[in-house]
Amino acid sequence: MNVLVIGSGGREHAIAWKLSLSPKLTKLYVAPGNAGMTDVAECVDIAAKDQDALLRFCREKAVDLVVVGPEAPLTEGIVDRFTKEGIKIFGPSQAAARLEGSKAFSKELMKRLSIPTGESETFESAEKAMDYVAKKGVPIVIKVDGLAGGKGVVVATSMPIAMEAIHVDMVKKVFGKAGDRVVVEEFLDGEEASVIAVTDGKSVKFLASSQDHKRVYDGDHGPNTGGMGAYSPAPIVTEAFERELLERVFLPIVDEFRRLGTPYKGFLYAGIMLTSKGFRVLEFNVRLGDPETQAILPRLKNDLLELFLATVEERLEPVRLEWKEEDCVCVVLCAPGYPESYETGRKISGIRTALEDKNIHVFHAGTKSTPDGDLVTAGGRVLNVVGHGRGIFEALSRTYNAVEHIFFDQMHYRKDIGHRATRVLK
Ligand code: AMP
Repeated sequence: MNVLVIGSGGREHAIAWKLSLSPKLTKLYVAPGNAGMTDVAECVDIAAKDQDALLRFCREKAVDLVVVGPEAPLTEGIVDRFTKEGIKIFGPSQAAARLEGSKAFSKELMKRLSIPTGESETFESAEKAMDYVAKKGVPIVIKVDGLAGGKGVVVATSMPIAMEAIHVDMVKKVFGKAGDRVVVEEFLDGEEASVIAVTDGKSVKFLASSQDHKRVYDGDHGPNTGGMGAYSPAPIVTEAFERELLERVFLPIVDEFRRLGTPYKGFLYAGIMLTSKGFRVLEFNVRLGDPETQAILPRLKNDLLELFLATVEERLEPVRLEWKEEDCVCVVLCAPGYPESYETGRKISGIRTALEDKNIHVFHAGTKSTPDGDLVTAGGRVLNVVGHGRGIFEALSRTYNAVEHIFFDQMHYRKDIGHRATRVLK
């Protein structure tokens, strides 16, 4: 089969790598991809949002299956359009993707389905949002309604921070139309977990559990990022908890979309906070997480291409997902300054040496090849170093050993990935 993956980050590199192991695969393309993906796929210079060009490409190359990595094309309706054109595509429809595309919609749905979530109100006016915040007090959480590239949530610890966040979203319109509405949510304290499932609109199968690290500095300090690292499995997500989540979160959502006539197909990701009063759903994503994917897929025993096909063709029911009895850790290497402004174009070295350990993968995110054949940084999150081993301690030591070999000027990474799991196990 000919397969096209859409996207350009570490998540898509991990997806492409896993697809490349499928005996069913004839040819793998990634659009637009990045410098690291050429080891497993042919990169095609088409932007993820250019649906016309992607469609033309699929016809020209007889692509049998398209896999969408990031959320934006999904909320823009790529699945509806390609399906109408008779091309098999993995991911939720535009109607289903609203679960991530609009936090107001997702909160409304959760309330309707009695899914545990933080108390919140949605506002279309900055003034009313500010009045509400003044009444509720801090800490409080301000969320842009629409997509904001992972930057739309402010956990405000003081009144000026909360007011500034509303001003930035609704008056300055830093996130454009995404900030036409904001959701103001109660602050929830606890430990976070990501739970990701795959569904064909009827059956729901959980992927291995994982946990990511959002803050830029060790000890969970500093601003939120797209994710600084992840590990799988997450001891906090027990089988009993998964069963509870299936009954109280995932099945109600999947059943509701089917009832609405817009079945949910694809990955469904719930960001969860475990509070002293029980779990609360913070958000839904309609695709795999980045960097969670990089820690999850190396553990998957099943053929990923077959899993995608079974989902698109609505025959997921008999599929059993199987996982290697290994732990997997992903450490993200970043440009200095990330997540604020950062420079690019710094020469990267040492990847080949890091890969001499067969338990290591290096999935690229923001990298580029220069005409002289050098590999240079081209984004905030640059590389994902992934290692597996028997138990989290072995996985961590292999991963950090590999990181030691890699260098670019002022490279930054967290040295405490997995600290929550190691704390539990010590
Ligand atoms: P979200 O995109 O909604 O998952 O938010 C991004 C991050 O902000 C989450 O991973 C949490 O760390 C934090 N966050 C979101 N909502 C809340 C909340 N109600 N209370 C505390 N932290 C939150």
